[in-house]
Amino acid sequence: MVAEDGRDRPVRTCVGCRSRAVQSDLVRLVAEGTAITPDTRGRCPGRGAYLHHDRRCFELAERRRVWSRAFRARNEETPTGWDVSRVAALFDDIPSDRTRRDPDRVGMSGPTSRL
Ligand SMILES: [Zn+2]
Repeated sequence: MVAEDGRDRPVRTCVGCRSRAVQSDLVRLVAEGTAITPDTRGRCPGRGAYLHHDRRCFELAERRRVWSRAFRARNEETPTGWDVSRVAALFDDIPSDRTRRDPDRVGMSGPTSRL
C-alpha cells in the first residue's frame, strides 16, 4: 500500500539468502494448506514469506527447510512435507541455469545442417 511514491517502501528478508530487499524485488509466498504458492499479486491473506526471484535463493530455502518456520503460525500441526512445486515452477523458465537440458536444440543449432 505504501509503495507508490517510492519513499516508504517496505523491506523484507529473503528466506533463502537472508538478505534484506525491497519488497517489490521479492516474490511473496503463501501457504495454501501444504502447498506453497507464489502470491504474485501480493494480496493473498495470511502469513507470507519472501524470496528473491532467484533459483539459488529457492534452493537455499529448501535446504534450510525454512517453510515450517515461515508458515508455522497458521496451523497447529506442522506439515511434514511442503509442496513447493509451484514455487519451483517459477524458476523453470529461467534460461540461466547451466545444467539446462534442451534436447530440442540438438541438431538444429548451426548452419552445418544443410546437406
Ligand atoms: Zn535471496
